[in-house]
Amino acid sequence: MTWSHWFVTPAFTSLFFLLGVLTLYWFLTNEIIRFLKNRDKHPDPDQVRTHVGVIYITLLIVGMQLAVNGTSNSWVFANFQIFAIVFVSYFLQLDIRLWQLISVIIIFMIVNGTMFFGLSWVFAAFYIGLFYVMKLVKKHRHHHWLDFVDYTIASLAFSAVLWGLIGIRFKLPGNTLLWELIFSFFLLTIMYIYLGTLISSASTLAQLTYTTNFDELTKVKNYFAFKNDFERGFGQSKLANQPLTLMLFDIDHFKNVNDTYGHLAGDYVLNRTANLITQQLQDIDPELSLYRTGGEEFTILFTNYTTDQARTHIDAIAQSIREAKFEQAGEQITVRLSVGVTQVRRADAEQLDVYKRADQNLYYSKRHGRDQITVG
Ligand code: GH3
Ligand code: MG
Ligand code: MG
Repeated sequence: MTWSHWFVTPAFTSLFFLLGVLTLYWFLTNEIIRFLKNRDKHPDPDQVRTHVGVIYITLLIVGMQLAVNGTSNSWVFANFQIFAIVFVSYFLQLDIRLWQLISVIIIFMIVNGTMFFGLSWVFAAFYIGLFYVMKLVKKHRHHHWLDFVDYTIASLAFSAVLWGLIGIRFKLPGNTLLWELIFSFFLLTIMYIYLGTLISSASTLAQLTYTTNFDELTKVKNYFAFKNDFERGFGQSKLANQPLTLMLFDIDHFKNVNDTYGHLAGDYVLNRTANLITQQLQDIDPELSLYRTGGEEFTILFTNYTTDQARTHIDAIAQSIREAKFEQAGEQITVRLSVGVTQVRRADAEQLDVYKRADQNLYYSKRHGRDQITVG
């Protein structure tokens, strides 16, 4: 057999196989996340990736093992088992207890029919070791370059031990073992680069989505998110003839807070106001959202609420801010809200009609002594 038989063909096959496995996994998780989002569930992408990853990789490993079971080639997929462990420990950072890991390994041995081979238990200890070492390596990342060095040293050391064991068990020539080890390095590197790119581009996208929809200071949704949500809510309210109430409010004499206590105190008031109301909305109805639609101006969309139904909640929100203690450098700051409320009407042709009416009501509150709610 020539070197090309031993190296080039299997290397390419393994490379495309590994890339295919990872791409399919990424595609599946993204589709599942999208599916859950469309059904108005709020999936945590990291959790979906972890759960799907574990099921996916377990099925794949067991399937492959069944395919080669009992043949003289059963060592062929050993590299792949290393990738599987590195994948769940290093890339998915799976939190799994020792007993869970041992259970999975025992199931694997039963499928394999190797429960009673001493060497199987050596392999088991080996995989458990690999799992925890890779998790440790991931946890102690420090510097971009060194991370890759740590990753490679740790995974290759395990790879070398594995191929040593396989070499003994199947009496493979040293040459083969060396090539397998080179493969291992090559594929582990590809996996590092490929998964690293996928994961970092996903987190960049998540970061971008967050910054375009959320306000940096108060962490509540921003005007952009409000515009989109209001547009959708308005359309739905018109279509299904469902009520939709808009509550606009503005902090009274907020400029005084800045002028008297400084800009940082102003930021603190905005932040605390937003937090208090967010918590309150969670208790009232978790579907309700608070938006920071201006400097010290906020909006709440009461979807499926008439103004009458929303009224008690609106009173409670204004009251809770009135009662809340705002303290900065030992000084008490008084915070009051002027509120304008309105509901979508049949005659409203566009969102702006509703928004303008709520705004006029808010200014009515301002002109008539502030710290009050105007509904209309
Ligand atoms: P009114 O009762 O009529 O609403 O009076 P006001 O002082 O609250 O309103 P005005 O519009 O005169 O002033 C709003 C101030 O809010 C001016 C602006 O500097 C301040 N502001 C806007 N955004 C921020 C912010 O992010 N942080 C801080 N500290 N201040 C802000
Ligand atoms: Mg104000
Ligand atoms: Mg204002």
